[in-house]
Amino acid sequence: MIVVLAKDISPHDAEMVRLYLKDRGFTVRDQAFGDAALLGAAGKGQMDIRELSLLPGVERVAATSKPYELASRETRSEDSIVSIGPVKIGGARISVIAGPCAVESREQIAETAAMVRESGAVMLRGGAYKPRTSPYAFQGLGMKGLEYMKAAAELYNMPIVTEVVSPELAEKMKELTDMFQIGARNMQNFELLKKVGSLGKPVLLKRGPSATIEEWLLSAEYLLASGTRDVVLCERGIRTFETYTRNTLDISAIPVVKALSHLPVIVDPSHAVGIRDKVAPAALAAIAAGADGLTIEVHPNPDAALSDGPQSLYPAQFESLMRDIEALSPVVGKELLRTPNIDVSASAGRASAVVSEKIAFSGESGAFAEQALIRAFGEEAARLQTDSFNAVFDAVLDGSAAFGVIPLENSLVGSVHENYDLLIRYPDIAISGEIKLRIVHCLIANKDATLDSIKIVRSHPQGFAQCRDFLAGHPDWQLETWSNTASAVMSIAQEAGKDAILSVAAIASESAAKAWCLKTLKTGVETDPRNYTRFVIIARRQGDGVRIPPSMGQQTPDKASLVFSVKDEPGSLYRCLKILSEEGINLSKLESRPILGQPWNYMFYVDVSIPESGDVFEKALAKFKAQAGNFNFLGRYRASL
Ligand code: PEP
Ligand code: MN
Repeated sequence: MIVVLAKDISPHDAEMVRLYLKDRGFTVRDQAFGDAALLGAAGKGQMDIRELSLLPGVERVAATSKPYELASRETRSEDSIVSIGPVKIGGARISVIAGPCAVESREQIAETAAMVRESGAVMLRGGAYKPRTSPYAFQGLGMKGLEYMKAAAELYNMPIVTEVVSPELAEKMKELTDMFQIGARNMQNFELLKKVGSLGKPVLLKRGPSATIEEWLLSAEYLLASGTRDVVLCERGIRTFETYTRNTLDISAIPVVKALSHLPVIVDPSHAVGIRDKVAPAALAAIAAGADGLTIEVHPNPDAALSDGPQSLYPAQFESLMRDIEALSPVVGKELLRTPNIDVSASAGRASAVVSEKIAFSGESGAFAEQALIRAFGEEAARLQTDSFNAVFDAVLDGSAAFGVIPLENSLVGSVHENYDLLIRYPDIAISGEIKLRIVHCLIANKDATLDSIKIVRSHPQGFAQCRDFLAGHPDWQLETWSNTASAVMSIAQEAGKDAILSVAAIASESAAKAWCLKTLKTGVETDPRNYTRFVIIARRQGDGVRIPPSMGQQTPDKASLVFSVKDEPGSLYRCLKILSEEGINLSKLESRPILGQPWNYMFYVDVSIPESGDVFEKALAKFKAQAGNFNFLGRYRASL
């Protein structure tokens, strides 16, 4: 067992912790690891770990059956999320790091930073000190290279990650880098691990070319035991008998490590395969296998690269890969996180100013809308739970929430009409972002219930509709409608003591089952696995504009939503839509809703794409406004793939 003590623990409190352990039959050993104060306790003593972790000055207690304790999932069941300035790795996001193998010049690194950022990379990579197999190969520009990289990062607001090859250099580099990389060749350089861990900065730990998963996790343990809390693991291929590729990408290591450890795992497909045209398939496989992100070599001119040119992507290839990753991520329940719109140098203050504002959603903990909210605003976002969509609009209007997250349509059952109607009833509110979430429904019940004991199923009507085929197989089940899927789950948790509860189940998300500590009887009960809900982020209008969620601020809007009515006469709708057609504007959705108090008159909603070229859209919009009645511009935002 390892007891991590707070850095500022008083000698008295430290002694109390030692006595507590000794009194309970443990032998205690002080373990100095860099700046970190640790106690190792061995023996067959008996004690309550929770009580120990509550003692003053105790930061964390790790007691596991594994030799790596701080890195083990047994000591921390939730996924760790590592922050590098405003960038996060882990959780429900995919974070992509990109850049050249080595920094070659001020211009090269700046040019690469601009390109990879434009495609959505959140961090810049690049080696200033290169551990090369041959002593005659380019060894990197050293501190000068790091300075060039820092300058590029500041220009483009991206944190940087760079390899550190010796304890002495770690000290010199610490002010300039945001994250240290421990290269594959140095994974078991224990003095380097201890030094880098003691500096407290985030660390990207590559897997050694011949390291087992356990050795890799023990190296992570060195870093964690030395003081840093922020370690990201990176699978980069291992050495096998296969020589076609540079290394063999160990895809299975991803789910294995995710089960053994709470640390985020990313993949470096570039060094794994070593061949440019194999990088994208390997990258997509890594995301599909559960990786939290990627680090990819991209060079503005790979043919002239001083190192690893053959495996470096051309910027256009990287751009195309990023679009594929964006489309794939929702399938594994994640979202590609693009560059946050935050100034890195002022990150701490500005980032927390954003997350301290509330974001409203309708439902209980574990609601799908909450998952969409986390995708858009991060796990720390302060949430305002409401019990209706109406209340979400009210909260955004009166300022008790900065943003709201509401569902607009589902790919299996169609539109959420109530929210289309609310968008008209609240003209001061506009759409400022979009999130598409894959919806996997589960049948959730009390831990002692079985499929045979179920007689009643609770959910939101959308939940029932999306699971129609599964429910049709159980015609004797009685369906009870609840205001949202997560509140149906909550009701079971709250009635836990009652005998009748064994006959009740709910249809909702796995997260709701976890949030309310209930059992999942069956996963994936939706009629088709391609089940997605499109959520929009709403905000109060400010003049002509509207606030954009920070994670979406860098992206040029490419979609707009409009609502309008037309005269009750032949060709009136056609004349409006013709304008879009003539201007080459693609219409992605058309929906009509009855107008309150005007039977058989309709409001039409359209979603259109905004062409890249200049003022085409503005011109079309002006013509459209002149033609349509009751025109309202609902918002301009970035489409979620
Ligand atoms: C690198 O990422 O630049 C690198 C040298 O990778 P690895 O340590 O995985 O070989
Ligand atoms: Mn390289």
